[in-house]
Amino acid sequence: MYITVWNENVGQDCEAVRAAYPETLHGAIADAVRGKDATVTTVTLDMPEQGLTNALLEKTDVLVWWAHAAHDQVSDELVAKIRERVLRGMGVVFLHSAHLAKPFQALTGTSNTLCWREAGERERLWTIDPAHPIAKDIPSCTVIEHEEMYGEPFDIPTPDETVFIGWFQGGNVFRSGVTYKRGRGKVFYFQPGHESHPTYRQPEIKKILYNAVRWAYNPNIEQNAPSCPNIATPDEKL
Ligand code: ZN
Repeated sequence: MYITVWNENVGQDCEAVRAAYPETLHGAIADAVRGKDATVTTVTLDMPEQGLTNALLEKTDVLVWWAHAAHDQVSDELVAKIRERVLRGMGVVFLHSAHLAKPFQALTGTSNTLCWREAGERERLWTIDPAHPIAKDIPSCTVIEHEEMYGEPFDIPTPDETVFIGWFQGGNVFRSGVTYKRGRGKVFYFQPGHESHPTYRQPEIKKILYNAVRWAYNPNIEQNAPSCPNIATPDEKL
């Protein structure tokens, strides 16, 4: 399995982010998803072809995407290529503020807007689908001491599955872990992970990321884009 962790890495060269993630945000995410069954590469927006060359995208089985401040800088051409590869079978995990990432919007067809509050509130992340592969070995309630509040209404299509619901100290609730099937590809959105809180260093959260990329992995990605073939009748008679 080839995992590519993409981080826009904009505005993260500051004391708050360095304190939470001395190894960089994408480094922490890569550390969470790493395993003997996987090769993990990290790339950032400032790299050639915005970090995702055709060659890298074509060998990526699961793409993990963290973004916040630079959604608009991602080219529409790259968004179209990501969407097509998901439809062919690539898995994709969108994290935290990637709810507004253009590739996620291209896959949902909705605005993916929500309400938010940056107050470092305690979050209780409830596992509401304990039999789901992404929830394997995850407790019924994971407490995150400090997290940005994301609240409903969350303008997404009705999820195929809702694995986690977040409750925040201020009283808001949120569909914090949701899945979709798009074409042959699997999509997971996961809310925790504000850049100035060390959420991705918490064991339960790391395990969710680890599980999510393995759930999203499809070993049989189609070589060609979806098409509408004109086909012969399977039998002699209709
Ligand atoms: Zn945030």
